[in-house]
Amino acid sequence: MNIAFIGLGNMGGRMAHNLLKAGLTVYGYDLSEVANQHFAEAGGVVCDSPQAAAKQADVVITMLPAAKHVKEVYLGEHGVLETLKAGALCIDSSTIDPKTIQDIAEIAHSKNIKICDAPVSGGTIGAQAGTLTFMVGADESTYQAAKAVLGHMGKNVIHCGDVGAGQIAKICNNLILGISMTAVAEGMALGVKLGIDPKALAGVINTSSGRCWSSDVCNPWPHISENAPASRGYQDGFATQLMLKDLGLAVEAAGQVKQPILLGGMVQQLYQQMCMRGNAHLDFSSIIHQYLPEEA
Ligand code: NAD
Repeated sequence: MNIAFIGLGNMGGRMAHNLLKAGLTVYGYDLSEVANQHFAEAGGVVCDSPQAAAKQADVVITMLPAAKHVKEVYLGEHGVLETLKAGALCIDSSTIDPKTIQDIAEIAHSKNIKICDAPVSGGTIGAQAGTLTFMVGADESTYQAAKAVLGHMGKNVIHCGDVGAGQIAKICNNLILGISMTAVAEGMALGVKLGIDPKALAGVINTSSGRCWSSDVCNPWPHISENAPASRGYQDGFATQLMLKDLGLAVEAAGQVKQPILLGGMVQQLYQQMCMRGNAHLDFSSIIHQYLPEEA
């Protein structure tokens, strides 16, 4: 099976590497020369456009920043849907709005091309280790075909429903994550200001009803969770600007169905402020700085 992988950045580069390690032939394309070079060093075949990569492929995987890039790669001037043969499979693992992938799917289906959304959870650590969770939106036969490929890059491949359902699951998960991280930051900052040792406080939370992923695995206070970005200056994690993008997707989707997401709207503004202050690239757990004095 030949695979085309478009978008070889922090996530895509590591995911493509796992496909290569599984012995698959992977044709890749990225706008970044550095990303292409790393991919070539891992044994991938670098192509000079998405179409050139897709021409060789039975399966196309895309891992791109946002909806406009996904539209460009599938439907643009050098878009892959122009090139793919009938029966080919497209898997978009980017985090985007459900409507965009549903619109692309309509065009793909008219060309007898299978397509699914398969956004991921697990971050760059999961991408590297091949332990990602994929949330798949597709009909049953497309899901089964995608599962065979995604199994090389993840340990959970969950069928969420029809095209777009994977993105709905991803957006709702990250809405909860953005809020829960802010709640833990608020609680930790208050506790320390009131005089408790942060380790003692985290120890209580993590054996009590406040416990969650943000308190336990990725605590925003430094040196509570040793492997967390907070313990390495908030570097190399899930960037605040990506969390802001995902909260924007949740707010937009909620607006479309007139569903209130009160806390989501509030934390979106907090992450917006973080980005405005030049911290867009820091891990989103750096939201705790909204609760600390300037010099902290
Ligand atoms: P990234 O910016 O590191 O990588 C995206 C890559 O796409 C870049 O290398 C860029 O050059 C390339 N690109 C952009 N437009 C292109 C085009 N037209 N053709 C070819 N390549 C193009 O981003 P990332 O961290 O890898 O994230 C990718 C997606 O995964 C995003 O939607 C993000 O929200 C989602 N995601 C990221 C994480 C994480 O921890 N980083 C976790 C879960 C989901």
